Amino acid sequence: MVDHDALIEMLTRLKLTAIRTSSTIFWTKWRGGNSPCGKPWPSFASARSLARRSAGSRWPARSPFPTVRDLSGFDFSAQPSLDPGQIRDLAVCRWIAHGDTLLLLGPPGVGKTHLAIALGREAIREGYSVLFVAAQALVAALAKAHQEGRFEERLAFYAKPKLLIVDELGYLPFDPNAAHLFFQLVSRRYERGSRLITSNRSVGEWGEVFGDPVVATAILDRLLHHSHVITIRGDSYRLREKRRAGIFNSANLNMEKAHDAR
Ligand code: ADP
Ligand code: MG
Repeated sequence: MVDHDALIEMLTRLKLTAIRTSSTIFWTKWRGGNSPCGKPWPSFASARSLARRSAGSRWPARSPFPTVRDLSGFDFSAQPSLDPGQIRDLAVCRWIAHGDTLLLLGPPGVGKTHLAIALGREAIREGYSVLFVAAQALVAALAKAHQEGRFEERLAFYAKPKLLIVDELGYLPFDPNAAHLFFQLVSRRYERGSRLITSNRSVGEWGEVFGDPVVATAILDRLLHHSHVITIRGDSYRLREKRRAGIFNSANLNMEKAHDAR
């Protein structure tokens, strides 16, 4: 529970003047024995949650995500390998507060990017800074900065947000230099910020992805410490929709899958 003076100071700092005014009126009534509920401001559990709510209501001027996807738009019945309770629990963002890693693994089209964006949006709502980047774009930016002597600056940029979302790791293998640069980023963020990584490759295949089993082991060692690994199984949601609409039959299934994997 926040004491009244601290609450007023915080509301002033957050420029929540309307709430500050009603808080003072409420407080005065409560002190006079007129509280309707016996406690001042029972809904404000802590200064932290209030600050979070306020920060979450301010969306960044530019969305960090390529598209808008929400948990409300995710059809859990289409993905029985997922536990909706586990995803809703992750949406509360405790794992981000703890600096944990979340790995979303599975074949193309099963909703990894959808869930990554939806959880990223929940994190922003909770007041966390979030950066979303495709794995290939991330390593390209790190490699370019390295060549131009700005690696440290770029590393600091990617190390800063509380949650870094790296999407589609493994679609293309990294060259050994890129894998080493990625390792430096993972080390820099280790136990400081959270990361959410989506990949169509299982953890056992990451040696191939990074082109070097030693670097892959070092990366995994840091990522898997305090991690949540969710493996989604099943068919591509896009294919399912098409199948429902009768657009394809089993004869062109393999062609569609090959296209999806690209
Ligand atoms: P992945 O990243 O696993 O390849 P995406 O998240 O890009 O898959 O999903 C492909 C498309 O299908 C997206 O438009 C996404 O919103 C949609 N989609 C996937 N799974 C679901 C689902 N269970 N409910 C609703 N939409 C879904
Ligand atoms: Mg994806």
